[in-house]
Amino acid sequence: MKVNGFFKTETARPKLNGTHLPLNNSKNNGHDLIGDNHVATSLETPMREDAFLLSDEQKMLLIENKFRDIMNVLGLDLTDDSLNGTPHRVAKMFVKEIFSGLNPENKPKISVFDNKFKYGEMLVEKNINLNSTCEHHFLPIVGKAHVAYVSSGQVIGLSKINRVVDYFARRPQVQERLTVQIANEMKRILKTEDVAVIIDAKHLCVSSRGIQDEGSSTITAEYGGVFKDPLRKEEFLKYLSLSI
Ligand SMILES: [Zn+2]
Repeated sequence: MKVNGFFKTETARPKLNGTHLPLNNSKNNGHDLIGDNHVATSLETPMREDAFLLSDEQKMLLIENKFRDIMNVLGLDLTDDSLNGTPHRVAKMFVKEIFSGLNPENKPKISVFDNKFKYGEMLVEKNINLNSTCEHHFLPIVGKAHVAYVSSGQVIGLSKINRVVDYFARRPQVQERLTVQIANEMKRILKTEDVAVIIDAKHLCVSSRGIQDEGSSTITAEYGGVFKDPLRKEEFLKYLSLSI
């Protein structure tokens, strides 16, 4: 199968012991600046048009080989029992687990129900476990998501909110984009603008490298519809501070 973009850069690159070298050593082409400042460049996860021409199995094989190259370049002995399965494990983890949310086929199918009880106040699902990956460093983002909505006539099962959070978290992410993607999906499913999302998360790229600040966490929020009203916002935030 011919897939545009997969191999074309490699053919032009110089090789060292069978390993392609980067075309130049220039670091300051803007990418470092964007990455270290954790700037998101778009609301949609940037994907190529040919992103799903390869099957999961083909992707795992390619990633396995390339990750083996990375380990080799680092000088690791891949014949060691402890290391020789690592390229396959990493490839499987990327495709089937931590980046499985890139594939729209894995999007949770969520059904809505009529709001039979005519519950008209906000519903808050708080402390939803969040495990994602920083797209600038490929290191974990770990935290909690809090989601609220006011029904416009339809409701969804509570665990489905966790599934929406998990689907968008399983991508290389920027926290701001993740927050808005979750809010937009909730708005789409529930056919209402009245949705709020807060994420409070630690970025391992901040705590374990770079500035190495272990104490800080990052909070992002998206308020739609009635949640733009300061009183509603305050009510939501009050529920989050309740320890039940
Ligand atoms: Zn990062």
